[in-house]
Amino acid sequence: MRPAPFALVSPQTLNEVIELADQQDVDTVLLAGGQTLIPLMNMRIVRPDRVIDLSGVSELSGISVTGEDVVVSAMTRQAELRAPSVLQASPLLHYVTRFVGQVQTRSRGTVGGSIALGSSVGELCVTLLALDGRLRVDRPDGPRWIESANFFIDYLTTAIGPGEILTEVRFPTLGDSARWGFSELKLRACDFPIVVAVAILQFDGDACTDARIAMGGVDAIPVRVAAAELELVGGPVAEGDVQRAAARLEEDISPGGDLHASADYRRRVASSQLVRALRMAMSSRSMA
Ligand SMILES: Cc1cc2nc3c(=O)[nH]c(=O)nc-3n(C[C@H](O)[C@H](O)[C@H](O)COP(=O)(O)OP(=O)(O)OC[C@H]3O[C@@H](n4cnc5c(N)ncnc54)[C@H](O)[C@@H]3O)c2cc1C
Repeated sequence: MRPAPFALVSPQTLNEVIELADQQDVDTVLLAGGQTLIPLMNMRIVRPDRVIDLSGVSELSGISVTGEDVVVSAMTRQAELRAPSVLQASPLLHYVTRFVGQVQTRSRGTVGGSIALGSSVGELCVTLLALDGRLRVDRPDGPRWIESANFFIDYLTTAIGPGEILTEVRFPTLGDSARWGFSELKLRACDFPIVVAVAILQFDGDACTDARIAMGGVDAIPVRVAAAELELVGGPVAEGDVQRAAARLEEDISPGGDLHASADYRRRVASSQLVRALRMAMSSRSMA
């Protein structure tokens, strides 16, 4: 299939992108890696009058590590998160990236595109939420920052407003006292997952002092599961705590059924994926 006719503009600087995106009288979309947008345009589900190609804006690419964050510019390809510098700063982010799509999609798909898409089962979205990350969006009157907890609004809908550009994603690093685990179920290796679970536990000695668990595929957006988190805090974490946490998932999830999985199946898979993620977290001291 071929897309409906559209104008393509290829700015070279962020300022040019901001100026173009602010012209809201033209129906415009931003093109990042195109892994989702191009198929949608080819199927004519999305029919913009104008496409702003971000690939020529070099200032939108790159990864740096500060004391507290892995700072990823929006047009950084997902595959670049497999760099040794990311492994050293955030083994969780490095590990999770290998599950995002496949080699081909990771080499074209961008970190910003994945987050801007806001899929409930996007591994990077779920990880960002578990890490309490932050996002920078730019617009004509300057940048604004959004906490990940306020970023995912509804099904494939984020807090990025009209004319705004996601420019940077900050994934906080974890200290030596943290343990983490990740698990997901995919029906086929090339598909989006059915359910994703990311668990981060902070320890003081043997006692768990903080638990952050984010899940995908159990609601329209990635969600934190507060009741399950509570079961893990206050002492050592044993298998019984893991099972109790999984039993309390129900309080914070609201899965829908679709072509891929019924709501009931997602509930059961959520429970098993959470148990796996927590067991992974408990089986190794911080890999940070
Ligand atoms: C076969 C296949 C399997 C996949 N499997 C997975 C998977 O398992 N897990 C997963 O998470 N993803 C998966 N994906 C999705 C893919 O990894 C990309 O993350 C995703 O398509 C979006 O990234 P992109 O850079 O291609 O963005 P694009 O497709 O170019 O854009 C996606 C959307 O984001 C908007 N956008 C992009 N960049 C910005 C920005 N900087 N500011 C504001 N808006 C922006 C675009 O306008 C568009 O609406 C898969 C894709 C394919 C084709």
